[in-house]
Amino acid sequence: MENNKIDVIIIGAGPAGVSAAITLARAGKEVLLTDRADFAGEKNIFGGTIYAKQTAEIFPNFWETAPLERSITEQKIFLLTDYNSTQFGYKYASKGAYKAFTVNRSKWDRWCVEQAIKEGAYFAPKTLVKELLIENGKISGIITEQEKYYSNMVIIADGVNSLLAKQIGLRNEIKDKDVSLSVKEVIKLPKERLEDRFNIENEEGCACKILGGPLKNIMALGFMYTNKETVSIGFSASLDELKKNNISPYELLEDLKEHPTIVQYIKDGKLIEYSAHLIPEGGYNSIPKLYDNRVLIAGDAAMLVNNIHFEGTNLAMLSGKIAAETAIEAINLGDYSASVLSRYYKKLKDTIVLKDLETHKNTIDKIRKNINTITSLYPELACEFFDLLTSADGIPKQEKYRKFLNKFIKSKGISASIPLAVFAMEKCLKK
Ligand SMILES: Cc1cc2nc3c(=O)[nH]c(=O)nc-3n(C[C@H](O)[C@H](O)[C@H](O)COP(=O)(O)OP(=O)(O)OC[C@H]3O[C@@H](n4cnc5c(N)ncnc54)[C@H](O)[C@@H]3O)c2cc1C
Repeated sequence: MENNKIDVIIIGAGPAGVSAAITLARAGKEVLLTDRADFAGEKNIFGGTIYAKQTAEIFPNFWETAPLERSITEQKIFLLTDYNSTQFGYKYASKGAYKAFTVNRSKWDRWCVEQAIKEGAYFAPKTLVKELLIENGKISGIITEQEKYYSNMVIIADGVNSLLAKQIGLRNEIKDKDVSLSVKEVIKLPKERLEDRFNIENEEGCACKILGGPLKNIMALGFMYTNKETVSIGFSASLDELKKNNISPYELLEDLKEHPTIVQYIKDGKLIEYSAHLIPEGGYNSIPKLYDNRVLIAGDAAMLVNNIHFEGTNLAMLSGKIAAETAIEAINLGDYSASVLSRYYKKLKDTIVLKDLETHKNTIDKIRKNINTITSLYPELACEFFDLLTSADGIPKQEKYRKFLNKFIKSKGISASIPLAVFAMEKCLKK
């Protein structure tokens, strides 16, 4: 790097930034990856799981050397009432089933950046980018706390708040309804006890989603993920609902941990970490313009999170990779105009990033409208149904069936499930 001038500068060494850096370095371009943290991942948190398919596109066979916690072999959904629960699970064979892995972000992000450095990227930790450098009306690099770096091409991957996308007018202030606050605790348990409770062994892992119970009647989803010797437990809830209902996230998490079903998994564990972070969950309708002259935005900074399917890291990696591929085309053409960089948006439209987000562009509004039914009535009905099937309490079965069906029909259960089912079918069948 001569005179601090380089082919591409990337701001943020999360999944989006590091994927962009590796893609550029592999193509022989000079790339500077910056992060404000002392080391990559130092302050980054998530639930959570990374997804094998998109991760392997950047790091082939990563499972052989990367610092992974567990390979997910079971997905569970808990429907909670105030005291009871119904659970659905999907378990798949562990051998060769590499679909998703739990990771510890501080170890994982660090490993990813090490791979980028090995491929030839420059990494600048402890480098907070204060603003983009604008000269003669053109983006010409970055201004950090220490110095200036120059480039014709900048990729912004600085996460959900993206102050830098705001600086150049590509992002507005995020609306409360488009963002979730996620709170999470990490609870340490002896390995054997953890495996017994979640019914897993060796390197297998379990990913759980939780609806209802203390989280009923608000746009909130709980989660539990197994790591090697810890459980990550938390929830994310729409910021506007937390504010509107004056809910303390900390108290809500305590209530969730004390639910009779949930406490079984974490009791006697030692709390070793508490964290809170925002997730951009506004979906397709909240995506900003993703390019301009000499600049592209990727990952959370571009609001690319699919909250219906709990996907963020994979969309960040994919968008980072495609941003880099577009930057390579611009470098080879010597043309960094918005017109060339608009190819980034067109390419994303052909991938799951924009396809899936578009599929779900109205789903959150539908869920919001039916939130009480989904988080309160359905868990109640599910529990009552299993109770009906399994209790030999002397009441004639026909009487019990009739009572249950009457409740289902009279409640909003049926009126909410029909439009939701029709909506889901429309989504699947529409070309
Ligand atoms: C609690 C929680 C659970 C989640 N669970 C999952 C899950 O299970 N699966 C999943 O796929 N996704 C999950 N996500 C979402 C996922 O974490 C994000 O979508 C993903 O991390 C986005 O990657 P990114 O690179 O765009 O941004 P980030 O990971 O946020 O990285 C941004 C980087 O930019 C750096 N930075 C910021 N500002 C500056 C600056 N001015 N100068 C220099 N550096 C800067 C930061 O230090 C950071 O390293 C979860 C998120 C949360 C909060």
